[in-house]
Amino acid sequence: MGVMIGLEVHCQLNTESKLFCGDSSDHRGKEPNECTCPICLGYPGSKPVINKKAIEHGMRIAMALSCRIADEMFFSRKTYFYPDMSKNYQITQYEIPLCSNGYLTVGELKVRIRRVHIEEDPARLQHVGGDITNAEYTLIDYNRSGIALAEIVTEPDFTTPKQARQFLEILLSILEHLGVYDSEKEATIRCDANISLDGGERVEVKNITGFENVEKALNFEIIRQNGMKRMEVVVQRETRHFDAEAGNTKSLRKKEYEEDYGYIFDPDLPTIRVTAGWLESIKKTQPELPDQRVLRFVKDYKIGDYDAHVLVYTDKNLADFYELCCRKYGKPEVVAKWTMNYLLKSLNWRRERINNSKVRIDTFVEFLRLIESGKITERFAKELIKEYVDTGESPAMLAEKGAQELSDSDLDVVVEKVLQENRKAADEFRSGKEDALKFLIGRALAATQKRADPNRLRDMLLKHLNASIAQ
Ligand SMILES: [Zn+2]
Repeated sequence: MGVMIGLEVHCQLNTESKLFCGDSSDHRGKEPNECTCPICLGYPGSKPVINKKAIEHGMRIAMALSCRIADEMFFSRKTYFYPDMSKNYQITQYEIPLCSNGYLTVGELKVRIRRVHIEEDPARLQHVGGDITNAEYTLIDYNRSGIALAEIVTEPDFTTPKQARQFLEILLSILEHLGVYDSEKEATIRCDANISLDGGERVEVKNITGFENVEKALNFEIIRQNGMKRMEVVVQRETRHFDAEAGNTKSLRKKEYEEDYGYIFDPDLPTIRVTAGWLESIKKTQPELPDQRVLRFVKDYKIGDYDAHVLVYTDKNLADFYELCCRKYGKPEVVAKWTMNYLLKSLNWRRERINNSKVRIDTFVEFLRLIESGKITERFAKELIKEYVDTGESPAMLAEKGAQELSDSDLDVVVEKVLQENRKAADEFRSGKEDALKFLIGRALAATQKRADPNRLRDMLLKHLNASIAQ
C-alpha cells in the first residue's frame, strides 16, 4: 500500500466583499475586528446574502481543474462549537459541492480532484504566550470571519510529500492566473494534509501555511508513523497540529467524522441554479492558464520550454514583468536570460518577489540596454544587477559610479598588488608562458569584484609586466 496522501486546500477568494455581507475582504492595515457587521459576527436574526462573484470564482476554479459543475447547489450549516465561529455553525457546501470529479496533472501523476466547494472563513485566533496547545490566552479577530474560501479536496493520490508540494505550487499558479487569488495578502492559502501508511488509519494535519511546511509536516508524519509501526503501536485516526518552529506535529483531538457535524440545509440562503448561459459567460472570459501561457511563451518568444516554465510558474507577476519588458525592449531571449538567471537569483537571495522589490520595468530595460550598447561588460553586469536589485537605482548611474571608482590609478594599485601576490605566475609569464596572463587577469578581476573590463586589466597587466622586464 505504501504512503497515501490527500490534501484539502483552503484558498481565500479575491472578492471585494465577504461571502455573505458587504464588509471588505481586505483587512490589511485595519484594526482587529474593524471589518465586521452583524452578519459576519453571527448575530441572531442577521440575514446572509450570497456574493455572486465568489460563486463565479469557484466556477473558474472548477473549469481549470476539469471538474463537473453542479446544476443546482445550496449551502449548509456545519455545526460546531468553537470561538472562531460565533454563531456556532459555519456556512459551507456539504451535500452538493460547487463541483466534483476533476483532475490536475503534476508531471506524470494525475491527481484526482474530489470536490471544490465554497464556504466562509472562520475568525482568526491569536494565541498569546504559546501556540494552540499551550497559550496563556487567546485573542479573536473577526476581520477574517466570513471571507469567501474555496476548499479544494483531492483524492489520496500522492505517494510522496514532494508530489504534494509540487501539486500545491502548480495549483497556486493556476489560482493566480485565474485572478481568483491575491498572493499579496498574507497567509491566504492554508492546507490540511491527511496521510496514512500501509492502509492504516489516516491522520490529518490541520492548518499548515506554506508549501514547504506541508512537505515538512508530511515527512515528519511518515517518520513518526513508521516509528509507531516498528513499536507495534496502532496509528489512530486523529487530528494533529504542525509546529513549524519545532518541525513536528502534536495531537489536537481524536478525529471526528464528517457526519458528526450534524449538517443541515441553511434556510436563510436560496438554492443556486447554474444556467447554461451563466456557465458560457464564465467560460468565455476564462483567463489564460499557466500551461497555455508556457506554450505561448515557447511559440511567440522562441524561448526554451524549461525557461518558459520557470518564468510562468515561479510567480505570475514575474511572467507579467517578463512580457512587459519584452514589449518595451524586444529581444525576448535576452530578457529571459537576464530575468530568469540573474534577476531571479538576486530576488531569491533577498527573499523578495518581483512585485514587492525595487525592480521596475523601465530601469530593468535600461540595464539591458547598457549591456547591449557595450557600455558595461556582461561580467560587470552580473555584479551590477545585485546592486540594482538592492537599491532600485538607475543602472546607468550605478554603472557610472562603479566605473568612476575604478580610475587608471585605482587599477594601477590593483594590478601592482596582484603581481606582488602572484610572483610565480608573473615569472612564468615573463619566461614565455602565455597562460599565466589569463590567471593574472582573473585575479585582478576578482580584486575589483568583477567590475573592471578584463581587456583594460589585460593592458594594464602587460604594461606593468613589460616595465618590470625592461628594468
Ligand atoms: Zn460583515
